[in-house]
Amino acid sequence: TAASAALFERAKRSVPGGAGSTARLPRNGWEPYPLFIADGEGSRIRDVDGHEYIDYLLGLGPMILGHRHPGVTQAVVDAVRDLGTCFGLPYELEIEAAEKVVAAVPSLEQVRFTNSGSEAVGTAVRLARATTGRRLVVRFEGHYHGWQDTVYWSNHVDPHRAGPAAHPRPVAMGPGVPAELEDTLIVLSWNDPESFAALMAERGDEVAAVLTEPAVFNTGCILPEPGYLELLRELTRTHGAMLIFDEVITGFRFARGGAQEWFGIDPDLTTFAKGIGGGFPVAAVGGTREAMRLVADGTYSHSGTYNANVVQCAAVSATMDVLAQPGLYERQRALGDRLARGLEAIADENGVPAHVTGIGTVFQLWFTDREIRNWRDAAAHAREDVFTRWYQEMVVRGVLFHPLQFENLFVSLVHTDADIDETLNAASDAMRVV
Ligand code: PMP
Repeated sequence: TAASAALFERAKRSVPGGAGSTARLPRNGWEPYPLFIADGEGSRIRDVDGHEYIDYLLGLGPMILGHRHPGVTQAVVDAVRDLGTCFGLPYELEIEAAEKVVAAVPSLEQVRFTNSGSEAVGTAVRLARATTGRRLVVRFEGHYHGWQDTVYWSNHVDPHRAGPAAHPRPVAMGPGVPAELEDTLIVLSWNDPESFAALMAERGDEVAAVLTEPAVFNTGCILPEPGYLELLRELTRTHGAMLIFDEVITGFRFARGGAQEWFGIDPDLTTFAKGIGGGFPVAAVGGTREAMRLVADGTYSHSGTYNANVVQCAAVSATMDVLAQPGLYERQRALGDRLARGLEAIADENGVPAHVTGIGTVFQLWFTDREIRNWRDAAAHAREDVFTRWYQEMVVRGVLFHPLQFENLFVSLVHTDADIDETLNAASDAMRVV
């Protein structure tokens, strides 16, 4: 892989750490540099050395429609040609995109577009604080909400390593809150109704927002236990706190209306990114008319030069149209299930304890037979060593996904039966070696 290696050496001279957002992730000593990509189409990508991969990384999730979706790409080209690159000015395309998102997601009445999931979460948290007049935010171990402000954490890199000056307010993945944040942030164990009920009984009237991934796709893929999201909804309502669903990963993923449609729970505010733009960089924060009231009346200014730019609005509008095709999600969930069950069966045949968590198009393979209910279970039972071996054997067989156990395998809405067959064949060979 000489071409990738050469580009990495060149990148390091002008791009600190090398190119690509995943380049600095721990690579378990195996890959000295990232693969540089030459081309992507549908479910496949090719690197600069000419190797082809079936892609289950999908840019960490955004390529919900695979690479270079023709309809979305064309819509973006058309919009830029027709509208130019106006920033900050209104045009009908923004209304069109907003209307389609609102129509797709059950709890939404209004939505605003922005540039990244981190910005969307920051907006939602500040809006909840402004609306309730309270400061305290409750969040959960193992959830990721971006790298900004009070919700920052990292599970890969010690956020404190560079010292407090580099990250003024980092929060680690696990339990514990830095001293200066104690009156503004509480971190609880997830899927644990007792600790949540106890906290709300004691301090519920101080809570501005409860911020949660509705299913935890940043610690593998952990689904809420029956009744858990209902409890979050009920107790936030009782205490006048806002419930924020961070649907940056789950939004539009396995159901058009996201996890809130799938689990039947309506939050006050929701954040989106990744899938909402079909691979183009766009995020959004939306909610009920009441939850968005301070934005509407100008009390809370949702700033951002690039918010709702032409590329974003065109990408969202076209992506929403594609996702409205009947039968699309059913077909893909079935495909994802076939892959997940196939991987479990292959592990079983080879005497490797393993099971899959997740939903159809987004899942994780855990090399343990212990149940994974939350971050603590995952931290205790994940076999990173086995996962790494398996990952290595899969990459050389042309199947790409995230090198870390805690991250997801994403199946796009354009993966095919042939992709799954090929992947299972590779997995069978790989698992024998593992
Ligand atoms: N929330 C969740 C649930 C995420 O998974 C992510 C990104 N992985 C973010 C927020 C942050 O989004 P971004 O990387 O676009 O800032």
